[in-house]
Amino acid sequence: MRVIAIDGPAGAGKSTIARALATRLGLEYLDTGAMYRAVTFAAMRRGLDLEDREAVAELAGEVDLEVDEHGVRVDGVEATAAIRTPEVTAAVSIVAANSGVRAEMRARQQAWAMIRGGGVIEGRDIGSVVFPDAELKLYLTASPRTRAERRVAEAGGDVDEIEQAIAARDHYDSNRADSPLTDTHGPVLVDTTGMGVDEVLDHILQLLEQV
Ligand code: C5P
Repeated sequence: MRVIAIDGPAGAGKSTIARALATRLGLEYLDTGAMYRAVTFAAMRRGLDLEDREAVAELAGEVDLEVDEHGVRVDGVEATAAIRTPEVTAAVSIVAANSGVRAEMRARQQAWAMIRGGGVIEGRDIGSVVFPDAELKLYLTASPRTRAERRVAEAGGDVDEIEQAIAARDHYDSNRADSPLTDTHGPVLVDTTGMGVDEVLDHILQLLEQV
């Protein structure tokens, strides 16, 4: 199984790079953040209390998620844009800290890769927990300002507000008990501040030649 694991904080360029890398390598791409967002969206739609760990974990076990290059469907309903609203973004870290939800997502991610013989998989705990034996583990980052500016370029908004919201989410994701965002498991650190997509991609392809 050939897995390239890409972790890092919000707005570091993970999705853009992971997608481009998958195309170059002829592998499929999985956005695991979209899976946590989809569970959050489903829980909000059903009116669940997101702090009710058991109810949200049970939902994670039964919800039908389709996350692929065509977008995201939740229980058969198109949700590609709905999982990226500010409301879902503000709530997703609470759901992602739920160990029952994480166990279910981890199992689905591992099954996804097993069926396909691997893939380029991005998230927060991919190299540290989900695929510790990945062929290459990357930790993509960039300065907080750069990350906020990238998000604003994609989706609009006020750069100061977005920078604050990103910092709050990163703090929550880095300090949870279950599989926090970390760079202490030996990934190759890539700081993409001031780098273009092609430059980052070339750098990663060179790293792959060395493994
Ligand atoms: O990547 P994205 O910003 O869409 O991820 C949304 C959220 O999903 C993160 O802030 C984090 O709380 C959660 N997440 C996670 N583990 C992953 C991927 C995402 O906890 N592997």
